[in-house]
Amino acid sequence: MSLNQEARDALKDLEEAGLLRTTREIQTPQGAEVVIDGQPALLFCSNDYLGLANHPRLIQAAHEALNRYGVGAAASRLISGTMTPHREAEQNLAALVGQPSAILYSSGYAANVGTLSTLARPGDLILSDALNHASLIDGCRLSRARIEVYRHADPEHLRALLDEKRSAHPRAFVVTDGLFSMDGDRAPLASLREIADRYDASLIVDEAHSLGVLGEGGSGACAEAGVRPDVFIGTLGKAFGCAGAFAAAGPAVIDLLRNRARSFVFSTAPPPATAAVAAAAAELVRGADDRRARLRRHSLRLRAGLRELGYQVPDDDTPIVPVMIGDPRQTMRISNDLLESGFFVHGIRPPTVPEGTSRLRLVPTAGHEDDHIERLLEAFARLRR
Ligand SMILES: *Cc1c(COP(=O)(O)O)cnc(C)c1O
Repeated sequence: MSLNQEARDALKDLEEAGLLRTTREIQTPQGAEVVIDGQPALLFCSNDYLGLANHPRLIQAAHEALNRYGVGAAASRLISGTMTPHREAEQNLAALVGQPSAILYSSGYAANVGTLSTLARPGDLILSDALNHASLIDGCRLSRARIEVYRHADPEHLRALLDEKRSAHPRAFVVTDGLFSMDGDRAPLASLREIADRYDASLIVDEAHSLGVLGEGGSGACAEAGVRPDVFIGTLGKAFGCAGAFAAAGPAVIDLLRNRARSFVFSTAPPPATAAVAAAAAELVRGADDRRARLRRHSLRLRAGLRELGYQVPDDDTPIVPVMIGDPRQTMRISNDLLESGFFVHGIRPPTVPEGTSRLRLVPTAGHEDDHIERLLEAFARLRR
């Protein structure tokens, strides 16, 4: 059988299972109101939590850096790709999250794969939350350490696993999302910190969805919980409205990552304009309390309104609002119906979420008006009828 024939068969299987994925084209800048495949719609599924992806100050930072530094970094960071904006971004990001040093990666995926596979080694023990992001899972696997998965947000299960397994391994790591990407709930960070300390384990927290959103000045879920992680992972493609990611930690940890993290060492540095936008976004995010307040107001209103309508939505306060449906085909049917009435709400299916938990993942942003939220709730009310 030819490769192409096999691929066609695999796609057909996906389609029959309701799991085929396609892309939709946004023909405007990111924002509350967009044009998708020629049709205007209200966007409710981006991760542009603070509405910064099209912010004039960040656009200006990109223009200035393009004029000053050009388009490409032309080499990896360790060769000749480290430019002034890269250093500035790393300084600003470390300061924002209260860590001594930071290393910039070209994406969150690269950050997680590079950081975990460098810090954990064969023979070590990794304790990983059952709902951790795929990039954390891949980083754990690549390290070839022993991986134990604890039940989602369950400190007692973590404690039991450490009790049983810890002594057989020289080092241990507790790895978790700070704010879970598909469920919108927080990790129990204070308990995780306490247990990690008791068992002499390091705590690594991926704050992809909480950086900029939670904590004072948007410094994240750990800061909100009064917890200091050993390694903080932040991404810049979500609340920062930009691209890239970073790990922040003690200076020796960061120097080791600069030396050994393969996704950093063997990859061209991010474009200088991207780093310049990240540096500017770090300052913008810190001062964005008004945007965070607006985001929180929308999140609470959307959750309460959906529950009043009888939808299964967790009682929480974060901007990741999952509406549980269950079946992947029904999830996509609802998503398509909503798009036809002018609301882009994405369906999330396996393997992104466990079998039987397909859902709509609604995300309000600081860029939405109150009226946008009310219109979405009206659309859900019509669906109910
Ligand atoms: C989005 C995401 C990543 C990946 O970040 P990118 O910059 O998009 O590659 C990593 N971790 C979590 C929890 C995420 O949600």
